Amino acid sequence: MTPTQTNVSSLIERYDALFFDSFGVLVDGVDALPGAVDLIDRMNAEAVEYFVVTNDASASLAGQIKTFTRQGLAVPVERIVNSGGLITGYFEQNDLQGTLTLVLGTQYAKDYTTAAGARLVELDGETEPNVVVVGHSGPHDWESTLESLLSLFSRRYTQDNPVRLVLPNPDFIYPNGPGMYGFGAAAFVDLLEQALTRLHGTHESLVASKLGKPYSPIFTEAVKRAGSENVVMIGDQLETDILGANRAGIDSAVVTTGINRRTTADEFDEVADDLTPRYILASLV
Ligand SMILES: [Mg+2]
Repeated sequence: MTPTQTNVSSLIERYDALFFDSFGVLVDGVDALPGAVDLIDRMNAEAVEYFVVTNDASASLAGQIKTFTRQGLAVPVERIVNSGGLITGYFEQNDLQGTLTLVLGTQYAKDYTTAAGARLVELDGETEPNVVVVGHSGPHDWESTLESLLSLFSRRYTQDNPVRLVLPNPDFIYPNGPGMYGFGAAAFVDLLEQALTRLHGTHESLVASKLGKPYSPIFTEAVKRAGSENVVMIGDQLETDILGANRAGIDSAVVTTGINRRTTADEFDEVADDLTPRYILASLV
């Protein structure tokens, strides 16, 4: 597969809806990226269907809108599909409303999970959870937290009453200022999964349900909201945006303003097919 060069106007003409990643596409973490403000204004004015499809759920939807507004991006709240909002669908599909749930993460992670119908319990509280949601990596002593969870999951697995593990945002690392990085929730879930596999072998019930990119739930939700499968995902990360879109069977375009720096088709020669986008989008203008 060889990607072709395209521009935003062609994508708007060709597709029923455009999906945008946030970091590296619309914003750089501080400001809007070149062309983003005008593009959002244009799509709003021309009633183009679009959605911001982002793993980030470290703020409430209202908080995300506030940040976008400060950056000049007039994105309406109903156009954001984030990994926190997917917890609701997950609880619905698995009939988990009212289930005792431990949430690790910020207050926002707790709010998204409460909104999904969970009854929250504390780590090492009197009541054991039946679901553990690992939200934004948030303030924990991770060594002792992981040891508690490992013991809980291991014991409940051997009792044939496994605890469900849910990972809304599968980002392993995240940018934390210029040249600085932090471990995402996925890094801690990965440790837990590896430890459980060593103890009990590979079993579906010892692996987290992952909701954000590159996994399918976030794309399924975005396609549902768009009301069409004739959509294109515009992103900067091959391993999340492009891989996820390819797996979900939707077209994708890579930008060159974020993590991806490949700007020509030749540069994708050595890239695996499932990481290769259909298009290269040099700019949002
Ligand atoms: Mg990105």
